[in-house]
Amino acid sequence: MLISPDDRLIFEKSRPGRKGSGLPETHCLKESASARLDAKFRRKQELLFPEVSEPEVIRHYVNLSRKNFSIDTHFYPLGSCTMKYNPKLNEWAAALEGFSAVHPLQPAETTQGFLEVFYNLEQALKAMTGMDCFTLQPAAGAHGELTGMMLVHAYHESRSDKKRRKVIVPDSSHGTNPATAALLGYEVVTIRSNAGGRVDMAELRKNLDNQTACLMLTNPNTLGLFEVDIQEITRLVHEAGALLYYDGANLNALLGVVRPGDMGFDIVHLNLHKTFSTPHGGGGPGAGPVGVKAYLAPFLPGPLVEKKDGRYRFVTEPKTSIGRIKSFFGNSGILLRAYTYILTLGRAGIIKISDDAILNANYLKEKLKHVFPLAVDEPCMHEFVLTLKKAKEKGIHAGDVGKRLLDYGFHAPTVHFPLVVEDALMIEPTESESRETLDRFVEVMKQIAREIEETPELVRGAPWTLPIGRPDEVRAARNPVLTYRDVVREKEKACRESAPIA
Ligand SMILES: *Cc1c(COP(=O)(O)O)cnc(C)c1O
Repeated sequence: MLISPDDRLIFEKSRPGRKGSGLPETHCLKESASARLDAKFRRKQELLFPEVSEPEVIRHYVNLSRKNFSIDTHFYPLGSCTMKYNPKLNEWAAALEGFSAVHPLQPAETTQGFLEVFYNLEQALKAMTGMDCFTLQPAAGAHGELTGMMLVHAYHESRSDKKRRKVIVPDSSHGTNPATAALLGYEVVTIRSNAGGRVDMAELRKNLDNQTACLMLTNPNTLGLFEVDIQEITRLVHEAGALLYYDGANLNALLGVVRPGDMGFDIVHLNLHKTFSTPHGGGGPGAGPVGVKAYLAPFLPGPLVEKKDGRYRFVTEPKTSIGRIKSFFGNSGILLRAYTYILTLGRAGIIKISDDAILNANYLKEKLKHVFPLAVDEPCMHEFVLTLKKAKEKGIHAGDVGKRLLDYGFHAPTVHFPLVVEDALMIEPTESESRETLDRFVEVMKQIAREIEETPELVRGAPWTLPIGRPDEVRAARNPVLTYRDVVREKEKACRESAPIA
């Protein structure tokens, strides 16, 4: 889409000669730096930067930011994403100069504080998950999965067990699970869930064999249901000589309740940017530490932190390591925020996270199940899934309800996922919401249900209150315009350059 000159008057704030800075003239500034540059380094083309004053720039960005939905401005019930409040104390800690002003190449004697944070965070994650060793390097959940599956591969290779080319995932799994396995060249075997939304044991038994490298599972699963057969699942998988990978993105339901290590998982990744309250969305930065049982430690990426005589140091990676998977030590600032969160809450506070997250989810579920039917009607963990299949008669889909919620000041839930539920609306309130907010959300959902019956076009055409309504999401993701472009000036310039010389 090209912007016409008329649109330019609305969107384009640049005016020739307008400046954002007003530094006094000094001897240094008077002598143009470019004049001193060798001619071959000088810019040959006009720079198409916007010419705007400082107040205009400030208003532009502040007003843009106010159009955003964020956890600091809106309720954000985005299922499987755990959009909980990011305590500002975490930000305070991350901004402390002793952390924010260090350089990753500084010698370890001068960065003992950061090393202590890495070391203690690892101890805390081990205690909470029942795993023996962690790498803090991965920068996201999907990156953790990649690391974990590389560990699976290294393990089987080390035993010269080369026929294990298959990875099993349930059909309710997060898309990153099969994508990760496929990226590493594994054949992805998807098994159907049973009528109750859980792993179908007969399907699992049928597909497990001596070619299975791993079963990837999240528990509770993406329907918010705990896999009650988990001990039998781990027994069967191990009996087949395969490993169990735990997608720990849903750990918010399990803290202090049960540990993946005790369930029998060999490898886990955690999403610190979900369960441990560090900011996420918009692509990062995140942190997806990976924990393993002791027998897999020799394959972990380095560097790892060791404590000896009260001092901390990096130890080089094990000889059989899969190698580095991230520069330096991972997203240190995010690791620090997560550690701050853990220290702030303490043991009792950490346990209360899951109690309250489960309570809030069940409270909402019980209220909303009379508004839209549940995918599975039984007690849930941290999230639950509604189905909008009945609204189809009115031409309404889950995505339309998500859009209409924006008009009422709520971020949309996750829509059309998990794929096993028709027109799914996946809701995760998290523990950080008040009862009043949850009640208001229920009232709005009731209102939208009425609209579907009486004025469906109001839902179908939503949102009505936002400057952008229904962008082409694929195009927006594939061809994002991330830098300033003055389309009009570019065109004028192109015309000038192509014009015949008179
Ligand atoms: C969020 C999520 C992931 C991926 O985590 P990213 O940090 O977004 O890469 C994987 N699995 C599940 C179940 C998730 O909810």
